[in-house]
Amino acid sequence: MTEQLTQSRHLATAIPGPRSVALMNRRAATVARGVGSTMPVFAARAGGGVVEDVDGNRLIDLGSGIAVTTVGASAFRVVDAVREQVAAFTHTCFMITPYEGYVAVAEALDRLTPGDHAKRSALFSSGAEAVENAVKIARAFTGRDAVVAFDHAYHGRTNLTMALTAKSMPYKRGFGPFAPEVYRAPLSYPFRDGPGLDGAGAARRAIDVIEKQVGAADLAAVVIEPIQGEGGFIVPAPGFLPALRDWCAENGVVFVADEVQTGFARTGAMFACEHEGVVPDLIVTAKGIAGGLPLSAVTGRAEIMDAAHPGGLGGTYGGNPLACAAALAAIETIEAEGLVGRAREIERLVLNRLTELRRLDPRIGDVRGRGAMLAAELVKPGGERPDPASAAAVAATAHAQGVIVLTCGTYGNVLRFLPPLSAGDDLLHDAFDVLAEAFASTR
Ligand code: PMP
Repeated sequence: MTEQLTQSRHLATAIPGPRSVALMNRRAATVARGVGSTMPVFAARAGGGVVEDVDGNRLIDLGSGIAVTTVGASAFRVVDAVREQVAAFTHTCFMITPYEGYVAVAEALDRLTPGDHAKRSALFSSGAEAVENAVKIARAFTGRDAVVAFDHAYHGRTNLTMALTAKSMPYKRGFGPFAPEVYRAPLSYPFRDGPGLDGAGAARRAIDVIEKQVGAADLAAVVIEPIQGEGGFIVPAPGFLPALRDWCAENGVVFVADEVQTGFARTGAMFACEHEGVVPDLIVTAKGIAGGLPLSAVTGRAEIMDAAHPGGLGGTYGGNPLACAAALAAIETIEAEGLVGRAREIERLVLNRLTELRRLDPRIGDVRGRGAMLAAELVKPGGERPDPASAAAVAATAHAQGVIVLTCGTYGNVLRFLPPLSAGDDLLHDAFDVLAEAFASTR
């Protein structure tokens, strides 16, 4: 077992400290500037709910490496399983000589994902790669080309997933031309739609666009995040997802749930689709699946998954044995430690804190999310006009006090909270005390 990192915030130097500054200088001279970093501090160790930097500062982690380290960044089962696997072998390539871990991960996905139909899985390395493969599979199954994604969507940075992603800057500008046959439909965004548009109405609006601008006969797949991540932690109004799912079923369109960010206990259910009883045809997972190792998957109805011919799916590293060992250990950790329930506890704690902050600060226009995937949308007081400057100022103030907090949203005005589910209540309260001061000092 690895030594536990002390679970408290501690500022040993200013943020960033001298070692991080030196490393930032080395970074600037050699790493492409297109690769950003939220904070100018370099990590030395991480675990529980804390990241320790190279200057000995202990930061509270409200980001989980963008929703990856759900079980923590050094969960002992994951560390032990990876150690054992790395000593046995690092790689053979599943497409050459397969190994049990891959099959065991597919079995776990079969058991855990929504629906009791016959399923198959294929494993990959990144979320974007899995989304691309879901589209390939849907096209192979339907013989159709078109794909629908939504306003505010984020699905990755490869060519096809850039096309699926909505936001131009920084994800798309200058990087086209993009993959063809991708169409965009309006989402349900309760805060901005207002009370006049319920989930069923928002679904009718989206389906109307799809039917008029694409046509079901040419549509292979509808790809949707059940709670949007990068787009602003947008929870669609109740009924939106089920109505879309039903329309897909009636029209032979493959309904693909991108649960890359929402999956594996993050939202207080194993998968976010479960909150509305939605059973997707294909579900895409990554991030939280493997405790920090790169692994992703497409899981779905056997007849759809098996539409791709032998040899049509794969990749050198897809389902790497270290990542599979980590995934099995991460899943065991989620189940053994009741982390789905822990996500719900975190939801209560964080929502209480955010509701209190909202009472004091008219810039918080909306508080939303599920489980340990929560957000505050900042606006000009009294309306809906986005206030990205306040979101950046609050985040920067929190960073300087040793709290890692991320922003997101089409307008860059959403503070999002994604703590590891291994973070304790004391740590979370300390982080929200810091955030309360950050709100107060930037008003
Ligand atoms: N889909 C969603 C919903 C995501 O949140 C992300 C990553 N933020 C991706 C796809 C892309 O995953 P990756 O960065 O692993 O390619």
